[in-house]
Amino acid sequence: MRKKSYFAFLLFLMLVLAACGTSEDTTSNEAEPESPDVEETESTDEGQEEEEEAAADWEKDVYTVATDTNYVPFEFLDQDSGELIGFDIDLINALAEEAGINIEIETLEFSGIVAGMGSGRFDIGIAGMTITEERKENIDFSQPYYDAGLVVAVHVDNEDIQSVDDLAGKTVTTRVGSTSETYIIENTEAIPEAFPQITEAYQNVIAGRADATIYDVPNVQYYASTEGGGQLKIVGDTLTGEQYGIAFPKGSPLRDVIDDALTTLKENGTYADIYEKWFNERPDGM
Ligand code: GLN
Repeated sequence: MRKKSYFAFLLFLMLVLAACGTSEDTTSNEAEPESPDVEETESTDEGQEEEEEAAADWEKDVYTVATDTNYVPFEFLDQDSGELIGFDIDLINALAEEAGINIEIETLEFSGIVAGMGSGRFDIGIAGMTITEERKENIDFSQPYYDAGLVVAVHVDNEDIQSVDDLAGKTVTTRVGSTSETYIIENTEAIPEAFPQITEAYQNVIAGRADATIYDVPNVQYYASTEGGGQLKIVGDTLTGEQYGIAFPKGSPLRDVIDDALTTLKENGTYADIYEKWFNERPDGM
């Protein structure tokens, strides 16, 4: 019995090795004759066919758009209707219409969107996502569509913290996977406390369980004047300049399609109208 299974195992091992050998051979065999082929068929019918095939690879009836549900006023749930609304939602719908494509919006946690764009799980990502060198390693971005930056905010009654320089040893809340989380770790001596939802970060400061929060200016401002009920105040200057971009998997041909549509919407006033609807002013120079 034992001997038998030993031989069976040996046989199995040989088969596996043989299979590996063959597959390696086939790949190298296939690769060789292909290159002269390509040279020969330059700008012939076959070349055109190849182009069409490449287009068919990414053209879809419906493209998935990943976004978030907790980032006022860019994407959030309307308190009465429960509908997903916001600047990014209006913008991506207008862009899809301009580009002549169908989209389907999916919501998930912000850090999951960043990861999901890198892995190609979604076709498009729009979530107030800052264009960073690090993210650019795994994600392709559109041209910038919004200028933001980071700020420190504290409870309205807090007089100790006047700026980022007063944060050493303090508990500073933020959101998991955000540029603010990186900022706190790299540029302050504060104790970072990151939550999946940014509203939790703010609520902890309002409730006195944390000293301060660091997040994107437009989000802090909007939250402070709505849900925050005047309990949060911004202190000090804007810490960094950041720009938001629409995200695509690396090499996606959709990037240029949406980018061209964005240029059109910036030129024809649609972008400025959407901007005014959510920020009550026209964007600079438009
Ligand atoms: N702009 C920030 C970032 O990209 C936060 C975005 C968000 O919370 N949706 O990290």
